[in-house]
Amino acid sequence: MKPEQKTADVSFESLLRIFTVPEGPDSTLTKIDEELSRNLNKFLREHIVAEEKPLRDIEKDFSRAAIPEQPEFVSDHTQHLLDTLVSHSVHTSAPSFIGHMTSALPYFLMPLSKIMIALNQNLVKIETSKAFTPLERQVLGMLHRLIYGQNDSFYAQWMHSANHSLGAFCSGGTIANITALWVARNNALKANGTFKGVEKEGLFKAMKHYGYEGLAVLVSERGHYSLKKAADVLGIGQEGLVAVKTDNNNRICPQALQQRISELKAQNIKPFAVIGVAGTTETGSIDPLKEIAHICQQEDCHFHVDAAWGGATLMSNNHRHLLDGVELADSVTIDAHKQLYIPMGAGMVLFKQPDAMKSIEHHAQYILRKGSKDLGSHTLEGSRSGMAMLVYAAMHIISRPGYELLIDQSIEKARYFAELVKQQADFELVSEPELCLLTYRYLPPHVKAALEHSKGKQTEQLNELLNELTKFIQKRQRETGKSFVSRTRLNPQRWGNLNTIVFRVVLANPLTGTDILSSVLEEQREIATQAPKLMSKIDALSAEIVAQSE
Ligand SMILES: *Cc1c(COP(=O)(O)O)cnc(C)c1O
Repeated sequence: MKPEQKTADVSFESLLRIFTVPEGPDSTLTKIDEELSRNLNKFLREHIVAEEKPLRDIEKDFSRAAIPEQPEFVSDHTQHLLDTLVSHSVHTSAPSFIGHMTSALPYFLMPLSKIMIALNQNLVKIETSKAFTPLERQVLGMLHRLIYGQNDSFYAQWMHSANHSLGAFCSGGTIANITALWVARNNALKANGTFKGVEKEGLFKAMKHYGYEGLAVLVSERGHYSLKKAADVLGIGQEGLVAVKTDNNNRICPQALQQRISELKAQNIKPFAVIGVAGTTETGSIDPLKEIAHICQQEDCHFHVDAAWGGATLMSNNHRHLLDGVELADSVTIDAHKQLYIPMGAGMVLFKQPDAMKSIEHHAQYILRKGSKDLGSHTLEGSRSGMAMLVYAAMHIISRPGYELLIDQSIEKARYFAELVKQQADFELVSEPELCLLTYRYLPPHVKAALEHSKGKQTEQLNELLNELTKFIQKRQRETGKSFVSRTRLNPQRWGNLNTIVFRVVLANPLTGTDILSSVLEEQREIATQAPKLMSKIDALSAEIVAQSE
């Protein structure tokens, strides 16, 4: 028997092995692989530790800048990863982690991802993707049909047409939104007379040619921050992204939109796109899409719908009416890695018109030749993985009615939780769930009474203290590691539009039961007692306010 080798060596032979021979049946890697396939949730539960380790300490494990000179055995390194990385990552699929949009995943995606990674197809051009290209085009066709519902002959004509594209598959909603606005910008500043188009001559000449003083994109004040990035990279400037007032339900006010457009035009600024949000990130609210579409038609604006999170609702015949008007959009963003339960790195933008993306078409001699079916000629990203395969598989394995059940139960659960919050004397529901997202805060009855009686400065002071309390509870709950809700800042009309910190809950995990929802509230109530100093300040101010008002 050979003595067991303690350190790996650098040799071409061992390098060849990592490209060919799998690990032995007793290796750590093989065991992990088996555990993962047998029971994914158990694996995650066992390997992610609940107690929070301070980031400062974790950073110490990741502090060496030198690339190792000594190779490690795969099994040893895997153990190292389990100890330092996996154990201190976030259990995003835990049923009690109801604060984010990163979803739990169906188990079948693990082995399928392995196949996808092993194949390592590059979707930029057909030479490195072959069947993956028609598959991705079909996935885009499916989402297009889900939104726009064109007939079979439409898809027969356009889905696989070399010179057209129904949309773009990309890494996420950010790139999808940038792509939509890129198309809108180029169509608004297209070739005209001697002017060769913004894509050839740039913004400066485009503005001179068209005689504009600036460009603008309008979205509600609840728009996602990715739109600011889009405005920046497209040369519109962050100030060119104009925030429009929302109503009490966090939906854009159409009158305010119309007025802002008129104001911009009076300054010779071209509003070339309006974005409707279908499922805002903070409250899950849906803008009145039909009314926005009408304004866009009249104003000759591109109408984009950011349905990155909420778009999956279209899978439910019971709830898709909530997005009525989405079919009038020129383009729509949907993230498959949110409510379609696909791992991260799966975003899409769909265009109503099959030739809309012509304005961003790029060709190169060695790849992306004209007339080829290469998807890369219509995407911002270059090399891209075969993620569309996972969307394709989920569409078939879960199917539309399966997604409908998932969407419906999420919305029902959110409504249940909203009712539960309302029944508690010491909690306040801040935003009703339109989809499966809601916000609330801890507000004991005597403080609520004081808040109702308070005026001006005192309202602000009391609200500020409550904000501190909400922050404290949210942070402590996260650190304790049993459950996680997120927090955001809203300006509810009820309390005079003051900056109000709220708990934010997203109920998309099918494994989250109603018992968990009750215990989340229970835990928050209990944590509130752990801030006696803050609570007594709140109590004192409340008493003062009530005494004054009597
Ligand atoms: C998540 C989200 C985005 C950004 O998507 P990424 O996939 O994170 O890039 C954009 N808009 C909305 C409404 C979102 O919810």
